[in-house]
Amino acid sequence: MNLGGPVANLQGVGPKLGECLARLGVDSIADLLCLLPQRYEDRTEVRPLGGLRPGEKVLIEANVELAEVVFRGRRSLLCRVTDGTGAITLRFFHFSRGQQQTLSRGVRLRCFGEVRAGRTGLEMIHPEYRTLNADTPPPEPTLTPVYPTTEGLHQQRLRTFAGQALAILADEPLVDYLTGRLPEEWPSINEAIEFLHRPPAGADTAMLLAGRHPCQRRIALEELLAHRLSLRSTAADRRLERAVALDRAVEPVTCFLERLPFKLTAGQNSAWREIGKDLDRPAPMYRLLQGDVGSGKTVVAALAVLRAAFSGCQAAVMAPTELLAEQHHASFRAWLEPLGIEVVLLTGSMPAAARGAAREAIASGDAAVAVGTHALFQEAVRFRRLALTVVDEQHRFGVHQRLSLKRKGEHGEVAPHQLVMTATPIPRTLAMTAYADLDCSVIAGLPPGRKPVRTTVVQEHRRGRLVERIAAHCRAGRQAYWVCPLIEESDRVDSSAALELERELTAALPGLSVGLIHGRLNSADKERMMREFKRGQVHVLVATTVIEVGVDVPNATLMVVENSERLGLAQLHQLRGRVGRGSEASDCVLLYKAPLSDMARERLTVLRETNDGFVVAEKDMQLRGPGEMLGTRQTGVLELRVADLGRDADLLPRVIRLCDELMTDSPGSVEPLTRRWIRAGAEYAKV
Ligand code: ADP
Ligand code: MG
Repeated sequence: MNLGGPVANLQGVGPKLGECLARLGVDSIADLLCLLPQRYEDRTEVRPLGGLRPGEKVLIEANVELAEVVFRGRRSLLCRVTDGTGAITLRFFHFSRGQQQTLSRGVRLRCFGEVRAGRTGLEMIHPEYRTLNADTPPPEPTLTPVYPTTEGLHQQRLRTFAGQALAILADEPLVDYLTGRLPEEWPSINEAIEFLHRPPAGADTAMLLAGRHPCQRRIALEELLAHRLSLRSTAADRRLERAVALDRAVEPVTCFLERLPFKLTAGQNSAWREIGKDLDRPAPMYRLLQGDVGSGKTVVAALAVLRAAFSGCQAAVMAPTELLAEQHHASFRAWLEPLGIEVVLLTGSMPAAARGAAREAIASGDAAVAVGTHALFQEAVRFRRLALTVVDEQHRFGVHQRLSLKRKGEHGEVAPHQLVMTATPIPRTLAMTAYADLDCSVIAGLPPGRKPVRTTVVQEHRRGRLVERIAAHCRAGRQAYWVCPLIEESDRVDSSAALELERELTAALPGLSVGLIHGRLNSADKERMMREFKRGQVHVLVATTVIEVGVDVPNATLMVVENSERLGLAQLHQLRGRVGRGSEASDCVLLYKAPLSDMARERLTVLRETNDGFVVAEKDMQLRGPGEMLGTRQTGVLELRVADLGRDADLLPRVIRLCDELMTDSPGSVEPLTRRWIRAGAEYAKV
C-alpha cells in the first residue's frame, strides 16, 4: 500500500465510510495524515474534584454518594459523587434501568466529561463513565486526539484509520518541501505529523493543549504557507494579463474634487494616489481598499470610476444589497452626471422594462457606469468596454461572483482593473493570508469633526424608557433608527417582527412619523422610504439589517439595535456606523435579552469600549476564527486545520519569506504543497 493510494485501500473503509471521509476532504491515504486532530482530550491524569472549573473536560475518579431520579422539569438521574477533595453531580436525561442499578451508592467510578456550573454546584451532563475495580487499566498514557469528523464516522474509527496510515508513513515518508529551509531545531513534516496524531507519553501536554507545540507550529507554518502560495501564484499568473491604462483625466478629476462639499482626508488622498498609479498602467489593478465604517471609501472609488469613463471605457460598481446599490446610484449620479457621465442602475427587483433599458445602455456603451447588485453578473448583461470593476463590501460576495464579474471584462486579452472594498477593516494577519493576491490600501482615520458614537448596552426590559428617549430626540429635530434584526432564517418572520415594531412605535410616538424598511419591500418602495427618511419626513426608521451596509443619513444620530446579542461583532460595528455620520454626537443602544452567553457578553463589551474598527476586527477574528469571519467556511478559503491567525501571527514573516523562496527556486513544489493542505485547492487557486 502507498500513501498516494485511495483511502478505500485501508482496512475497514467501505463505500459508506469512504463517503464520510470524502466529505472531510480525504481521498488518499496521505490526505488522512493531513487531517490532524482539532484538539486533544486529556485523559492522562485523574483530577481532584476540589480543583475543577466550569468548561474543563476532565477525567475524575470518585465514589457515588447518592443516586436519585428526579422529576424537576425533566425526568433525570442525578448522581452525586465525591472524592474527598470535593463533589460533583452527574446528570443523565436518558438512562436505562441497568444504568440506574449500576450507579448506586458506594460504587467507584471513573468519568470523563465537561464540567459545568449547574443549579446546585458543578455538574457533568452525560459523562462517559465506567465502574472502577482491580482490573481497570490506568488512565491513558497519552493525550487522546479528537479529529474533525462528520456524521456517520466515529472518532474511534478515525483513530484506527489514522493508525493504519501512520504505519504506511513509517515506510514511505511524505516529501518535506521545507528541508534545509528551516532552522535545525524545527521538526520535519513527518516527525510533526506522527507526533500530532499520536502524542507520545511524556509529551508536553500543556503546550499541545495550547496549540504551541513545535510540531503544531511546524504544521501551522506549512498550512499558512500553502494558503499564501496558492494566492501568490494566482497573482503571478496574472502578470501576463493586460488592461487599459486609464487616462489621467486631470481636469475632470480637479473639477470633481472642487465640486465636493469637503476636502479629501489625508487617508483618502494617499489611498487615491496608490490606486491612481495602478490605473496608469496597462496591467490590471487588483487592489483591496480598506477603511473603517464612514472613512469615505465611496468617493475614492468614484474617482477611479471617473477615470474609466474619461478613457472611453465603462465601470461596474457592485453592491451587496439593493438598498446600497440604489444609494450608490444616487451618489454616483450626483457626482458624475454634471461631468457628462451617464450612470445606470441594475438590480434584480427592477421592473423588467427598466432592467432591459439598463442592459441596453450598458451594451451600447451609452452608460459609462453601471451600479447594481449581483444582477450585474447575469449572463444577459454585456458591457461594451468594461475597464474597471468596483466591488463594495466584498465580504458579502463569494469569490466566484467576483470572478464572474471579472470575466465580463475580458474581451480578447484585456482584463478590467479591480477595486475591492471591505465593509470594515480586516485584521492585518488576515489580509496577509486570505487576501494575499491583492495589493492593499488603507484609508487611515475618519473625516474631521466626527464624534465617536457613545455605545450603551441595555437589557430588554428597559425598552419603555427608550421609547420616551426617542420621542424627545425626534422632537428636538433629529432622527433615529430602530433595528430589528433577522431572527428566523425566513424573510417572512423578519418582516413581520419589523411590522409589529412599527405599529408599536407608531402608537407610542404620536405626532412623529415612523417608517419601515425591510428586504421584502420592492425597490420603488424602499427608495421612497429612504428618500423620505433622508429628507427628514420620517423621524424613526424601523429597519431590518438591510440598512447594515452603506446607508448614509447624517441627521440620524440615535440607533437602537434589538436582539443585539444575536449579531456578530463586525455586523454590529457596521450597523453602528449608520450613526455618527454628521458633526452631532451620536448614540447607539444595544438592547439584549438576558441571559447572555460569554461570547455575546464579550462582543457587546468590545463595542461599548471601542469605536475603532481595526480593534473590533482583531477581536472578531479572535472570537470567531478567520473562516467564519470571511464567511467562507464552506468554500475552503482559509479553512485552517491547525494554524490560528491570532496565536500564530508571529509565523507570518517566515511564511512570506518561504513563499517567495519557493516560488523562485522551487516552483514545482508550489502545486503539491498547496494541494496537500487546501481542500478543493485547485478551484480556490483559480480565483
Ligand atoms: P464608507 O467608507 O463607510 O463606505 P462612505 O463612503 O459612505 O463611507 O462615506 C461616509 C460619509 O462621509 C458620506 O456621507 C461621505 O459623503 C462623507 N465623506 C467622505 N469623505 C469625506 C471627507 N473627506 N470629509 C467629510 N465627509 C466625507
Ligand atoms: Mg461604504
